[in-house]
Amino acid sequence: MNLVNRLVVAAMPLVPRPVVRRIAHRYVAGETLEEALETVRALNDEGCMATLDVLGEDVEQREETGRTVDEYVRALDGIASRHLDSNVSVKLTALGLKIDREHCRREFDRIAEAARRHRNFVRIDMEDSSVTEATIRLFEEARRDSENVGLVLQAYLRRSRDDAARAAALRANVRVCKGIYVEPDEIAFQDREEIRDSYSSLVDVLLGAGCYVGIATHDPVLVERALATVSLLELPPEAYEFQMLLGVAGELRRRLVSAGHRLRVYVPYGEAWEAYSMRRLKENPAIAGHVVKGLFHRELRPRARPLPGNSN
Ligand SMILES: Cc1cc2nc3c(=O)[nH]c(=O)nc-3n(C[C@H](O)[C@H](O)[C@H](O)COP(=O)(O)OP(=O)(O)OC[C@H]3O[C@@H](n4cnc5c(N)ncnc54)[C@H](O)[C@@H]3O)c2cc1C
Repeated sequence: MNLVNRLVVAAMPLVPRPVVRRIAHRYVAGETLEEALETVRALNDEGCMATLDVLGEDVEQREETGRTVDEYVRALDGIASRHLDSNVSVKLTALGLKIDREHCRREFDRIAEAARRHRNFVRIDMEDSSVTEATIRLFEEARRDSENVGLVLQAYLRRSRDDAARAAALRANVRVCKGIYVEPDEIAFQDREEIRDSYSSLVDVLLGAGCYVGIATHDPVLVERALATVSLLELPPEAYEFQMLLGVAGELRRRLVSAGHRLRVYVPYGEAWEAYSMRRLKENPAIAGHVVKGLFHRELRPRARPLPGNSN
C-alpha cells in the first residue's frame, strides 16, 4: 500500500462528516429511492442504462434481510412505474448468505420474482473470496429457474478461469470486473498486468461462448481490448455492455455511448452510504488515492439532489 494511501486511511476517522459526505456524494446517489430514481432518470437522458444497488452487506441477524429485500422490490416497482432503463445488483451477504444459506436463497428469490414480474433483471454482485463458491452455487441454482439473473466474475481470482467455464455452460449473463477486495497471493493475482490479462481472457472466453457480458472497468486498456474482441467476433451492440461506477470516468463513458455502445452505470444508494464508504476504504486502501483526488476535484455527473445535509 502506498504511504499516502496508508496515511489517508489512518486519518479517515478524523475527517469531518461533511467532508466524507462530499466525497461519497460523487459515488452514491443519495439515501432514498426517490433520489436514486432521479439519478437513473438523468443517466437515461444521457443515453446510459443503470443498475441500482441498495447499500448494505454482511448482515448479522436474519431479521435484517427483510428490509433490504423490500427495498429492492420497491426499487423494481419504481423503475417499472417510471419506465426507467435500470436493473438491480444485489449482494448476497446482505440477504444473510453467511448466516443461513436457505434463508438467503428465499430472500433472493423474492427479488428475482419481482424482477421477473417486471421483465427486469437482477445481478448478484461478487464479494470477497470467503463467499465466492457459495455465491456461484446460488447463482447456478437460480439461473436454472430463470434467465433474469446474472453473475459477476473477478479477474484477479485465479479460480475465475474455471468459473467462466461454468458460467459459459449456462450461457450466463456475466459481469467481469477486476475485483475490489484485498485477497492473498495464493488465490489472487497481484500484478496489474496479470490481472489485465486475466480480465481480457475472461471477456474473450465468455463472449466467444455466446454469453452476454458486462464489461465493468474504467481501465482504457481493457476497454480497447474488449472492443477489439467485439470487432473480431463481429458482435452486435446487443451482445455486450460496458459498465462503470457512478462518478467515475465520465469522459470514457461519454465516448463509448456516443460510439453506439451500451453502457450501464452502477448507482448505489441507501442509508448505509457512510458505513459503505468507510468499509470500502478499509478493505481496499488503494481507493484512498481517489479520496484525496475527491477532496480537490469533483467530476460532474448527473445528480438531481445532494445527500441530506450536504450544502454542495
Ligand atoms: C459496474 C461495476 C460493478 C462492479 N462490481 C463489482 C463486484 O461485484 N465485485 C467486485 O469485487 N468489484 C466490483 N467492481 C469493482 C472492480 O472490481 C474494480 O475494483 C474497479 O472497477 C476498479 O477497477 P478498474 O477496472 O476500473 O481498473 P483500475 O485500474 O482500478 O482503474 C482504472 C482507472 O479508473 C479510475 N477509477 C477506478 N476506480 C475509481 C474510483 N472508485 N474512483 C475514481 N476513479 C476510479 C482511475 O482513474 C483508474 O486509473 C465493480 C466495478 C464496476 C465498474
